[in-house]
Amino acid sequence: MMDAQVSFLDQLFAKGVLHDSGVDGLYARSGEFEDVIARFEKFALTYGQDEISEAMVFPPGMTMQDFETSGYMKNFPQLAGTVHAFCGNDHDHMGLLQCMAAGDDWSKDQKPTQVALTPAACYPLYPILSRRGALPAEGAYVALQSYCFRHEPSKDPARMQMFRQREYVRVGSAEQTMDFRETWKQRGSDMMERLQLPHNVDVANDPFFGRAGKIMASGQREQELKFEMLVPITSEEKPTACMSFNYHMDNFGKAWNIRQADGTPAHTACVGFGLERLALALFRHHGFDTSKWPEGVRATLWG
Ligand code: ATP
Ligand code: ZN
Ligand code: MG
Repeated sequence: MMDAQVSFLDQLFAKGVLHDSGVDGLYARSGEFEDVIARFEKFALTYGQDEISEAMVFPPGMTMQDFETSGYMKNFPQLAGTVHAFCGNDHDHMGLLQCMAAGDDWSKDQKPTQVALTPAACYPLYPILSRRGALPAEGAYVALQSYCFRHEPSKDPARMQMFRQREYVRVGSAEQTMDFRETWKQRGSDMMERLQLPHNVDVANDPFFGRAGKIMASGQREQELKFEMLVPITSEEKPTACMSFNYHMDNFGKAWNIRQADGTPAHTACVGFGLERLALALFRHHGFDTSKWPEGVRATLWG
């Protein structure tokens, strides 16, 4: 365990694992940190290899239209980020520069673009599947990765504003998607054993906004739609979700019009790995020098 007097974030800065930007939750990563992430991703991809139907990597933004379809502004408006840009002429540009020089708010004249920052890695997948028409009988099983944005600035290094999720997404029948999620809860625990990280799986809820959100959150818990793989990183009492196992029923199938082979709305489930959180958990528990990590962990990640 590390020096409790110095915060884990300050230790990460001091060791050069992360670099401070002046904005909470926005950090540059070291080469070694990225190497750990790349190795973890390779390790994760050794599970369920023959089940994957395809792989995709998304840019950090998604179309505004698909973002709207996702319902994110209904459920999590407090976390969302949209991209705005200067769209003016020479005259407007002059005004912009004067405004900046005077230290006034220049951003109010920025215009919305067709891009929203991706809040959850699997969202951009659903419209792609929808455009292909009805799914084959075996459904779809996609391995993907995306940068995500959430407006939740924090001094907790495990709560970033921009971070990556690696996900497996299963799309098909209720049975296919629920089986998938059960399988992955097991595999998630197996992965944590091999990485020698203390962990436990618990039912969870998303931070739905406002008064109506409280009801949504308790409904999600009652129906056990979300589970998290918890690992202590910055706190023993409040361990951090490093993986999540989500069943969306046919909500996304309906929202994006994804059809099963028989024409009914598809069910979806996803398992998300928080790549920065997993790397931070490894540094937290095994130390800042990766060459001194336990032999079993080295064997798992370095082979
Ligand atoms: P939390 O309860 O800690 O806010 P979450 O429920 O919002 O987590 P998900 O929405 O399920 O997490 O996202 C999938 C995974 O992405 C999480 O299991 C976690 O590992 C990672 N993740 C979520 N939010 C962040 C963040 N702000 N910074 C870094 N990783 C994150
Ligand atoms: Zn997902
Ligand atoms: Mg969250």
